[in-house]
Amino acid sequence: MESAQAKWRERFGGFTARARQERPLLLLLTLVATLALVAGMQWPGVLAGWLLLLLAVVARKPAQAPAAERQMVIEVEPVFDPMPQVAATLAALDMPALVLGQDAIILFQNKAAEKALGALPAGSHLSARLRSPGILDMVRETIATDEPNQIEHSERLPSERVYTLRIAPIDFGRVGDQPDQAPQKLYLLSFKDISELRRIDRMRSDFVANASHELRTPLASLRGFIETLQGPARSDPAAQERFLAIMFDQATRMSRLIDDLMSLSRLELKSHIAPDQTVDLKPLIGHVRDALLPLAEDLGVEIRTHLPEGKVEVLGDRDELVQVFENLIENACKYGQEGEVVDVYVRNDPTEPVEVSVVDRGPGIPAEHVPRLTERFYRVSVADSRSKKGTGLGLAIVKHILTRHRARLIVKSEVGKGSEFTVRF
Ligand code: ADP
Repeated sequence: MESAQAKWRERFGGFTARARQERPLLLLLTLVATLALVAGMQWPGVLAGWLLLLLAVVARKPAQAPAAERQMVIEVEPVFDPMPQVAATLAALDMPALVLGQDAIILFQNKAAEKALGALPAGSHLSARLRSPGILDMVRETIATDEPNQIEHSERLPSERVYTLRIAPIDFGRVGDQPDQAPQKLYLLSFKDISELRRIDRMRSDFVANASHELRTPLASLRGFIETLQGPARSDPAAQERFLAIMFDQATRMSRLIDDLMSLSRLELKSHIAPDQTVDLKPLIGHVRDALLPLAEDLGVEIRTHLPEGKVEVLGDRDELVQVFENLIENACKYGQEGEVVDVYVRNDPTEPVEVSVVDRGPGIPAEHVPRLTERFYRVSVADSRSKKGTGLGLAIVKHILTRHRARLIVKSEVGKGSEFTVRF
């Protein structure tokens, strides 16, 4: 029945449309035919006239809207598909995010998620990539209850990262009156990267543990000597003199450590404020060399400075820059002692950034240690550092000061040849 109608429409549709178009002409012809009949014409003429009249009536009202109009009606039907908007919004987000449908099927993955988890084909189940039962239970629960949930999750590949995974239903409100107009239920699974927070937490607790350990060691030694002085060495002046000298060294080490810890925490407080004084590095380097001459002489090291013509001005805090170069030159003298010479180069080429390099000809630093030297309490050899009155905080302080000065520390070292610590402003 349907197809017979369609065939009829196909065959005669064009004809009726044409007739509709020519309606005024048809009416005129009908009128002429009627008049002819009235005027006494024969039957064939009358029949033709009435036929024309019939055609005019058929053409009066369209039986159905033309095809183009029918097409438009279909387009504006209120079926709401939220996916394009959701996808466009999430594509602009720098945090990994997936859109899941009911049954935990992945409908969309943004670029950040693609980078973090690898490309996941749309239409695959979440468990194809995230197999952790904790995550899958959480997703199932949210789909069942429509309540948001979150869980912590770590990924090993492509790199070790820790995330807070959160799933929440996306609420589009009510769209239209009909139940079949409601959009499909969607869920947003987002990944908040907390690896950096975790790293800072770990560093902080390591730092407290290290600081306590560093302070406890000289303190334990002080207590031991006090007990000895109170007991066995009570009436031994020679032992007392020896022990008191050691105790003095230990107490000095503790106060050095406390000074360095205080320095670090003061620097942390103002790390975001850039210094605004102008400092000439030439007299500053000269001052640091003079202050370190007694130590250098004790160690048998010569400090040679190589300074350019004119002033070498940078924006900085004078006292802090003194601390930077004191640390670097003192380290070069202590750890590069066997090279016997420490060279300090100040460079001020008009086209290059200002640089100060401290070069020693000591034993050098094995490559695996170089990236970690500025970590607090990191030492290539703890015993070596202690014997040289080190605290393990010198380069951490240098790094903090340079960060505040928007300057960089570049370390080059070759085992057996020596080390070069360059400050680039
Ligand atoms: P410390 O108080 O132990 O000197 P630093 O933070 O100043 O602490 O230095 C960290 C470690 O880096 C030192 O313990 C030492 O092992 C190494 N180091 C620093 N400077 C040099 C250098 N010029 N040559 C060889 N090793 C160095």
